[in-house]
Amino acid sequence: MFGSNAVGWLKVILENRFGLAFDLDCQMGRSNVLVLTLPGHSGQITFDTLCPEFWSSNNDFPCAQWDPRDSNLQPPLGLPIPAPAMSTIDRKLCEFHDGSAVFHYDVLGLTYWCLNRLEEFEGSPRDLHGRYPAFASHAVRNGYLDRPIVDEWLMVLGQVIAHVWPGVPLRRSEFAIRISHDVDWPGLYNFQPVTVMAKSAINRSIVNRSLWPLIIAPVVWLFRNKTISKFDPANTFDWLMDVSDELGLTNAFYFVCGETNTNYDPGYSIDNPSLSDLIGRISGRGHEIGLHPSYETFRNPTAFNAEFSRLRQVCEREGVKQEAFGGRMHFLRWDQSITPRLWAESGLSYDSSLGYAEKAGFRCGTCHDFPVFDHQRQEMLSLIERPLIAMETTLFDSQYMAIDNRQDAFSHCGHLMNHCKRVGGNFNFLWHNSGFKSDKDKDLYSRIVHS
Ligand SMILES: [Zn+2]
Repeated sequence: MFGSNAVGWLKVILENRFGLAFDLDCQMGRSNVLVLTLPGHSGQITFDTLCPEFWSSNNDFPCAQWDPRDSNLQPPLGLPIPAPAMSTIDRKLCEFHDGSAVFHYDVLGLTYWCLNRLEEFEGSPRDLHGRYPAFASHAVRNGYLDRPIVDEWLMVLGQVIAHVWPGVPLRRSEFAIRISHDVDWPGLYNFQPVTVMAKSAINRSIVNRSLWPLIIAPVVWLFRNKTISKFDPANTFDWLMDVSDELGLTNAFYFVCGETNTNYDPGYSIDNPSLSDLIGRISGRGHEIGLHPSYETFRNPTAFNAEFSRLRQVCEREGVKQEAFGGRMHFLRWDQSITPRLWAESGLSYDSSLGYAEKAGFRCGTCHDFPVFDHQRQEMLSLIERPLIAMETTLFDSQYMAIDNRQDAFSHCGHLMNHCKRVGGNFNFLWHNSGFKSDKDKDLYSRIVHS
């Protein structure tokens, strides 16, 4: 079932995870059985129940729950683990014999299916923005989007590896929070047509029950091309960096560098001297600059590459010294059959688009970075995916989760973050620089990043 490139990719996943260079091969004469061995050591782990479902974009299959304690293994979250493609489990899923183990579940197939987003290929549903919707996913339909199931299964596999090869040290990863900011609106009053400035000021005035926005917005707007005003509510850049500097965190700021749709792109110019200056200042403070490709670029290599070269030009001009660049698609637009290759071929080193706009959680079933594999061409890409776990608009927007209570939003983030901690992963967290409607939002943000 697995071709040699897919097996090679799985070996990289396992090596990244455990720090060991395993061999992984089909059992002699049986293409539907995989055997994991460790060169120089006896013993093996056999996967004897490979699932054809994990090679298909169909996701209409059941999901059982497995308690690893039935095989004397510990569930990483202390909970039974969702087991997609199984309807019932009526035997031990992992058995040990003579220094070897047999896994009766396709842990590797599940990893391949989740990470490579097979359910998002042709024929899958799309929302108004052409995105694969959360509600169509197997994870949402079976109630496990809040679970990093690939990480849970791989942690159980780690216990099996430790059992089969005792004394061989396994890599253990540490939890980290990683914060990024899509710069859709560098200013709410700056860089805007006068009508948008006026609307922003009125909204802000209502939310904060204050006349101040109505007074200051026109003043900021008059000087819009000269500087990013400290009075503009979206100018949170220094504050965001201050909060992270205290914690020793490096934030990433992703800039839009072109316009491919006048309805959905912000339309600011990265060449505006105050924005170029901002980019230099962010980098000078030790934070990261990245790309936020505009609305139509997710299927358009020419526009995509043009935007990345524009970012590089500005960075070069501003003396930004960064070895690699990453970023995230505007609106999280993503076509699994095209977009990963755009990122890889343009020379970007990582993407962080793979979270659902409507629901926070683990779209890829993992909170670990992973190398992207092109399922259609069966080759590993030179691109790392850094899955997005939560963003503030997902939590608050009325068309998404619509959480209207900050304590509930904090609890939900805490719930997801706790799962990331239990599997030694990363809580990849997006809060737009323009997404702070009041000081209460800043308090919530601070509480989340400090927890
Ligand atoms: Zn955006």
